[in-house]
Amino acid sequence: MPELPEVETVCRGLAPHLTGRRIEAVQCFRADLRYALPDMSRLVGRCCERVARRGKYLQFFFDDLLLVWHLGMTGKFHVIPAQTPLTAHEHVRFELSGNECLSYRDARRFGYAGLMATDSWEMHPWFAKLGPEPLGDDFDGQRLMAFCRGRKGPIKPLLMNAQVVVGVGNIYACEALFRAGIHPERAAGRISAVRLFRLVDVVREVLGEAIASGGSTISDFSRVDGSPGYFSHNFAVYGREGEKCPHCAGSIRRIVQAGRSTFYCPNCQR
Ligand SMILES: [Zn+2]
Repeated sequence: MPELPEVETVCRGLAPHLTGRRIEAVQCFRADLRYALPDMSRLVGRCCERVARRGKYLQFFFDDLLLVWHLGMTGKFHVIPAQTPLTAHEHVRFELSGNECLSYRDARRFGYAGLMATDSWEMHPWFAKLGPEPLGDDFDGQRLMAFCRGRKGPIKPLLMNAQVVVGVGNIYACEALFRAGIHPERAAGRISAVRLFRLVDVVREVLGEAIASGGSTISDFSRVDGSPGYFSHNFAVYGREGEKCPHCAGSIRRIVQAGRSTFYCPNCQR
């Protein structure tokens, strides 16, 4: 599943192809993905002003209309030459000015899209309750402390709660907790302020490093231009059950928390 760094990579990859381009036509090859597709014909004749990201949502701004897209598990955008024959699992194709198309493929069809008014998107249910961006100034130690105070539940699911901070998915929650030396099962309310401030810093570090290296290749994500990202080689604990910890002689353990696999080092994380 693409996590925030992958979505940011897609956003940065698409922006130069989409910005200033007009939608000449839209072809939807099915009526729904995870949910019913919106009436894409409303975009025809409009110019894309910018491409942005909020949490794991891609945002395509068209004057007073905003197209929002979530990639689900296997969604991918490709910019392809016009007249390219239809490819496997291609569900939507936008014909752009300049003889190129934006193609959306999604083998498992967990992706979804919506059209909303540009001036009120922040009130839309997909966005209204989202916490701050992990790389923005609003996510800081004070905020994390406020959420952790008095909580008896474990830190890892709290770190993945989008009301606390958006876009810290399973992989990066595991990696950040390892780097911060915090046991994933530790009660959130029993972690010192110093360690929570450190956790905020390492969340920014691991996400920033992943974005810098173009997103990971976990699952079958690929970049807009078709080349893979490389961060998956750098995971310290994620997916490494039974392997040696990079910091000590112990081995990486896997447990299940809130239905998700957690990887951690029982020696290094307390
Ligand atoms: Zn260790």
